[in-house]
Order: sequence, then C-alpha cells, then structure tokens
Amino acid sequence: MVATIIIFLIMGLIIIGILISPFLIKQRRSRVKNRPFPPLWSAIIENNFPLSLRLSPIERRRLQGHIQVFVAEKQFIGCGGLQVTEEMRLTVAAIACLLLLNERGEYFPKLRSVLIYPSTYFVNETVATGNYIIEERRVARLGESWINDQVILSWEQVQQDTGNWKDGHNVILHEFAHQLDQEDGKAEGVPILQRNSDYAMWARVMTEEYQQLCNDVQKGIKTVMNSYGATNPAEFFAVATETFFEKPHQLLKQHPSLYELLQGYYQLDPRQWI
Ligand SMILES: [Zn+2]
Repeated sequence: MVATIIIFLIMGLIIIGILISPFLIKQRRSRVKNRPFPPLWSAIIENNFPLSLRLSPIERRRLQGHIQVFVAEKQFIGCGGLQVTEEMRLTVAAIACLLLLNERGEYFPKLRSVLIYPSTYFVNETVATGNYIIEERRVARLGESWINDQVILSWEQVQQDTGNWKDGHNVILHEFAHQLDQEDGKAEGVPILQRNSDYAMWARVMTEEYQQLCNDVQKGIKTVMNSYGATNPAEFFAVATETFFEKPHQLLKQHPSLYELLQGYYQLDPRQWI
C-alpha cells in the first residue's frame, strides 16, 4: 500500500515537472535577457557583425536578448588546438540569432554544442562508388550541422564571411538554417512552420524554386543563389537563407515567391538593413 502511494507520488511529481518545465525555462530566459548587455559585447558584435548597427533599437535589443540566452545555454568547444574566445562566441551567437529575431521563441532546441576549428578541417567519409564498392575518403569541411546536437564551424571561414556580407555566402547562416530544418528530426528543407496550412504553400514554392535552380545549374546559367543549393532540398533551404539575408534585393527581383515565403517564415525583411 505504502509502496503504491510512493509510486503515485513520484509519478505525480514527474508529471508536474514536465508540465511546469516550459514555464520555468521561459522564466529563466527572461531573467537572462533582463541582465544588462555588457558594452564590451556590443563593441565586439558591432565590429564583427556591422549589419547589427542597421537594426532598429527595438530589433537590436531583441537580438541582444537572444544572444544572452544563446550564450548562456549553448556550449562552445574549441577543436584542433583552438581556444574559444569571447569574440568567437558572440560572433556565432549574433549571426545565428538573426535567424530567430522575430521567430517563435525557440533557441535551436536540439543544439547543445558549437564546435569551432581554426580553419578548414578534414573528416573521413564513406562513399558508395559502385555496386558493393565503398570507399573511404578524407573530405575538407568548412562547417556542418548535425541533426542530434552539434554545429561545427571553421573560424577562418566565419571571419571571411563576416568580412563580406554581400556575396550570399555565410557559413553561420547556412549551418543554423540546417538546425532550423532539422528541428523536427528530419533534414529535408522543411522547418517547423507556424500553421499546418503553411506546409502546402512551402512545398509548392520550394519544389518549384529548387527545380529551377537545378535546371539553371545544369544549363550553366548563373543565378543569384549558389549552385550548391542544387545538391538537395535541405541544402537549397540553407543556401536560399544565406541569399535572403545577404542579397535580399536580388533575390526578391529574381525569385519573388521564394522571397515572400522566407519573409513570412523569418518574419522580417532584410532589405531594410541593406
Ligand atoms: Zn549545408
């Protein structure tokens, strides 16, 4: 009898814990956001991410809040002998959180760690090259997003990309767009959308635009989006996101439906900053 009561009590406590957990997380985040934003942090972000100066005061404060939460919740790990600095943590956090600026308040929930290498890093990859033939290759990487819990970045590439916010290439935007896509456990170019009714429109526009990029790449036609987007729908979403934030005017002109779709998803219009 006593054992049954104890089991019920434990189950009750677990259920209460599950129910109030989102509320506690919200409270903890709100406390983190209410801390003053260190002036040194602002200086680092303005230097490495000058676009942040174009944000309205309200947007800038909101981004700062997101950065505070991101830095408090995610672990940064230096790889290949690299020592992670404040500059690295803040640069990654600021650009990753631009994707969340007006989003639904989730902070890449699957992501636990950001791994940073000094420059291009190499991984062993097994590739099927023919019937029953599997080859192991050493492949160079600039960044990766793992579906479970990690984003991996090359700091040299991050620096190159932050120094040029016009070329449509940004490894942080790219890998964190993958994180958004992978939030539902699948990497297929479809992030979690606000309403169930949004998925049909997403599928229609993305399929058409992806097919067009594939055709253009096949014919050798130069497009505003990097040809890497023609690899698969997941890469297309990541590349389209990079282009949306870095070349918004050209993307709108050449792909109005895609621009409108991304504008609705991210709930912002990067043209106002560029
Ligand atoms: Zn990718």
